[in-house]
Amino acid sequence: MSVLSNLEKFETDASTNQRIITLIDKLKEVRRLEREEYLYILNNTSQKELEYLRKSADSIRLENYGTSVYMRGLIEFSNFCTRSCNYCGIRRQNQNIDRYRLDKDTILSCCEEGYNLGYRTFVLQSGEDKYFSDDIICDIVNSIKKKFPDTAVTLSIGEKSKESYQRYFDSGADRYLLRHETASRKLYEHLHPNDMSFDTRMQCLQDLKEIGYQVGCGFMVNSPTQTNEDLVEDLLFIEKLQPHMVGIGPYLSHSETPFSGLESGNLLQTITMVSLVRLILPDVLLPSTTALGTLNSKGREEALKSGANVVMPNLSPTEHREKYEIYENKICTGDEAAHCRGCIETRIIFAGYEVDMSVGHHKTRGINNGMVRS
Ligand code: SAH
Repeated sequence: MSVLSNLEKFETDASTNQRIITLIDKLKEVRRLEREEYLYILNNTSQKELEYLRKSADSIRLENYGTSVYMRGLIEFSNFCTRSCNYCGIRRQNQNIDRYRLDKDTILSCCEEGYNLGYRTFVLQSGEDKYFSDDIICDIVNSIKKKFPDTAVTLSIGEKSKESYQRYFDSGADRYLLRHETASRKLYEHLHPNDMSFDTRMQCLQDLKEIGYQVGCGFMVNSPTQTNEDLVEDLLFIEKLQPHMVGIGPYLSHSETPFSGLESGNLLQTITMVSLVRLILPDVLLPSTTALGTLNSKGREEALKSGANVVMPNLSPTEHREKYEIYENKICTGDEAAHCRGCIETRIIFAGYEVDMSVGHHKTRGINNGMVRS
């Protein structure tokens, strides 16, 4: 077993930055740091300190979740999108893409295949596709919950009104993923066109929390022009929002976007952010993302050893997989669901952890103002 749990084994030497070690210990203890302290860590961490940070994050993850890695079955059900995010390959302006959407029966058969493979959470993700009205989404969610009552449904379909979010929740959706992308207003505006608003994004996350969802925010690491100061904003925002899940992945370039040709993100910096978030939120659900696996063949394993405890293998029909190309060279696009299930399990075990096929709710299970979803 290669679980990095034994902190006693960590030995500092003359080259170790003691201030960073002290700050990591402080974060582990009090779960928050000052802006300048986070910045100091990001500006000065090298390999030795990163090793300590990762071991600390792993020990907190082991305390809270043991070696369990929760499996979520991802269904990318439409790549139509009305938005024009400057980084994203499925943006509306991309003409060089074969658009598809799955109908309800196809989505249900993806769930069935997943259910038979043991999945108990389905994540339904898409571009912002107007075809899927609230009625249609509610019907899909309701049908999944009726057919597979012991599962959780996660939606990741973008910005909607509070009324729409409430309707999906009332139809049985348990969780909602909406990455904030960056908590820096200036960077948000650089990453998005004028018709998208930082305040709306933040309001959506607030609405989702108030309704009682288990809420996931998240951000890209090393997106164009992003600075360490911007990443500190993400950490401060996460301290404040207290989300149940946080999706963190490197920015990856796509040639059919305005950011074409700009450099993709960095593995070590992404892992650093994963570990810091684990220390801020000891019981957060933290995916080891496909983007990390795309950036580096061992990226997902490295994230698991740095505090991540969720993976989201793909259940979408293989014939459509490569059309959901939010970034280029996305991995696993040719693999059948059963193959993905097996492949990820091998990786998880090899990294020293174990697959957990249970529904894997967050510990607080959407507790909000005293209300607990039954
Ligand atoms: N329409 C949904 C789903 C968007 S795709 C929504 O708005 O939530 C899911 C995530 O993929 C995005 O939130 C973004 O963080 C990430 N993503 C998109 N393009 C990317 C790129 N080029 N590199 C890395 N991540 C990207």
